[in-house]
Amino acid sequence: MKAVELKGVSKKFGEINALNNFTLEIEEGEIMGIIGPNGAGKTTTIRIISGILRPDDGEVRVYGYDVTKNPLEVKKLIGYLPEEPNLYERFTVYELLKYFGELYDVDKKKLEMRIKKLLKLVNMEDRANHRINTLSKGMRQRVAVARALIHDPKIVIFDEPTMGLDPGTALTIRKFIAKLRGKKTVILCTHYMEEAEMLCDRVAILNKGKILDIGTPEELKSKIHSPIVLQVKL
Ligand code: ATP
Repeated sequence: MKAVELKGVSKKFGEINALNNFTLEIEEGEIMGIIGPNGAGKTTTIRIISGILRPDDGEVRVYGYDVTKNPLEVKKLIGYLPEEPNLYERFTVYELLKYFGELYDVDKKKLEMRIKKLLKLVNMEDRANHRINTLSKGMRQRVAVARALIHDPKIVIFDEPTMGLDPGTALTIRKFIAKLRGKKTVILCTHYMEEAEMLCDRVAILNKGKILDIGTPEELKSKIHSPIVLQVKL
């Protein structure tokens, strides 16, 4: 089963071709890495998959649903951790998760259980009643992860989830992503090749709105002498 299909997708911002006749398929259960330099088109790709942006051209399907025609179905299927998650500062951690659970129509009885489970998973049980504005950056990122999973989505998208975090928290987030293997389809945008190698089944290397190369981390590493891969690694 294909979790995500993009066929011939293009997106322009003014004169900039953010995505240029872009094609990518992601299998159910796969952990797909998207790597590339600043401005390569990573965030544009995931915003188009999650229906936040409309493509100018091409077809986007999530579990067979056309994203532009079935936005509500697609919303339920996707959990999205943006690059800079906007959490409601005055809410407590518990209130925030409850609010988003209700927004996604999670069954009331299931929601309490789910909040408990997620708080345990991200190791934030002892902070449930703390306000978001009292939390450290790493704690906020863990809450943002829990928020992205509150409706038990089939696909989880992480946009540079470890950017700017201390090494300990980055490791916690990576371990957490690794735990999703076999349970979810994961899309991981990152600048770090070693993060992609560690976590991903396949990696797509993007540059200027196009896929330069795609394959398993081993396949890509074997092409290490390619100037393009070297350029992206830098
Ligand atoms: P980064 O690693 O810096 O987050 P990225 O690979 O995620 O980069 P995108 O954010 O997808 O790249 O941007 C692709 C191109 O499209 C860039 O040239 C960017 O400046 C441009 N772009 C993206 N969003 C907009 C927008 N809303 N308005 C104008 N240009 C945009």
